[in-house]
Amino acid sequence: MVHLATVRKDDDVAAVTDGVAGVQLENDEFLTSVYGTRFAATELPQNEMPEREMPREVAYRMIKDELSLDGNPMLNLASFVTTYMEDEAEKLMTESFSKNFIDYEEYPQSAEIQNRCVNMIARLFNAPTDSDSDHAMGTSTIGSSEAIMLGTLAMKKRWQNKRKAEGKDYSRPNIIMNSAVQVCWEKAARYFDVEEKYVYCTEDRYVIDPKEAVDLVDENTIGICVILGTTYTGEYEDAKAINDLLIERGLDCPIHIDAASGGFVAPFVAPNLEWDFRLEKVVSINVSGHKYGLVYPGVGWVVWRSPEYLPQELVFNINYLGAEQASFTLNFSKGASQVIGQYYQMIRLGKHGYRSIMTNLTRVADYLSAQLTELGFIIMSQGGGKGLPLVAFRLPAERDTQYDEFALAHSLRERGWVVPAYTMAPHSGSLKMMRVVVREDFSLSRCNLLLQDIRLALKTLDAMDKDMVEKYTSHVQAHGINSHKARHNHPHYKGEKHSLQGKTGKTHGIC
Ligand SMILES: *Cc1c(COP(=O)(O)O)cnc(C)c1O
Repeated sequence: MVHLATVRKDDDVAAVTDGVAGVQLENDEFLTSVYGTRFAATELPQNEMPEREMPREVAYRMIKDELSLDGNPMLNLASFVTTYMEDEAEKLMTESFSKNFIDYEEYPQSAEIQNRCVNMIARLFNAPTDSDSDHAMGTSTIGSSEAIMLGTLAMKKRWQNKRKAEGKDYSRPNIIMNSAVQVCWEKAARYFDVEEKYVYCTEDRYVIDPKEAVDLVDENTIGICVILGTTYTGEYEDAKAINDLLIERGLDCPIHIDAASGGFVAPFVAPNLEWDFRLEKVVSINVSGHKYGLVYPGVGWVVWRSPEYLPQELVFNINYLGAEQASFTLNFSKGASQVIGQYYQMIRLGKHGYRSIMTNLTRVADYLSAQLTELGFIIMSQGGGKGLPLVAFRLPAERDTQYDEFALAHSLRERGWVVPAYTMAPHSGSLKMMRVVVREDFSLSRCNLLLQDIRLALKTLDAMDKDMVEKYTSHVQAHGINSHKARHNHPHYKGEKHSLQGKTGKTHGIC
């Protein structure tokens, strides 16, 4: 049978149209589709909070549409931060959105779940748990940055207390770290008035030199920061060498391990690497739950070996409606969802699950390294699980091409891939490099799609002459896809000259 529809005549439909024909639609009313309202034909409010409401469907759609211009998180290979969680995890987290984590009395089970996470993470990092040791302790944070602020404060306070007890000057604390540190260390030092003492990278060493680090220790040193997985090349710094040198020289100087990205990788991929509380000088460790901890942002963790390293005067007992809980945080209120998401991942995946994921990521990173080498790139990261599952690479110094890493990054961006180009930490010859962070959802087939696009981009760039490359580069720069070119930057703070980025051109690696 054929569905041949008959078109009705005016007379047949008059009854329907008559009813609305004379009605002038009130423009304000949300009667048609979102795009039929006046909101679709005016600029969204930008400066002044609007006087009147707007329908929720319109607000939702308008904001969603605007956000569609953000990059696609899946194609963002610049960041360590989790972009995939299972539906069940998302459901649990959504259901907990309205819980304030600090409210221990009202949400005792959320607090209990955080404590379980701290226990599991502390044991993963080999915190001493035998009966002779004092209790280790730890807390959740918003991310590694807050964790690092807390770790720095604890080291500073302990050092001050020691100096006071000895009747010595305690006004000029310093901290030792690699110039490739993540920017939060610069912040911690600056915010809490601790002098930064840098061990600089060289043209072929991007991690801290253990001897140089220990040589810098003096009576004012509050501690040494050792990075388990630097943001630039993902290499693990040699915590054991620093630990052993400190012991050999009888120095009372603690080590804090910044395991923001490596804390959930090394225990599974390199279980024999000694970097954690197995080393006696390691007093505190931070890790980002939202990186290889596999939780959406923001959750981090920090663990201390014993109360000796977390002076009592920094800890507040929060009495919330009758229940007491020791608290050491910078912020008071925060959502409970992320902590709950972390617990889900740890019990859902177990060590075997994390091991499988991290091993796969390491394999994909190794595959990508091999393919990029074939294309003529120089690989700067470590393969085979000796570092984070990321690939840091650059164009060979001696080459007959006109373009640089930044041009290649821009070209890939046209396909949606965000593969950032960086200028390395100071003293490494202003080396430019690119970095692909291999995250949970970066499977081998997606990796091959990326490789295809890299080949294509190289071909396009190769075909351009010098003039054309210059035009191309200035064109993409003018379009300013980087945040530092954003319109919202306050002119007063533009072009700062006080940080490693301001002083040396190092890119504060995002994460
Ligand atoms: C990401 C990162 C940080 C900052 O961590 P957040 O969780 O983003 O606050 C600090 N140090 C290193 C080595 C990192 O990779």
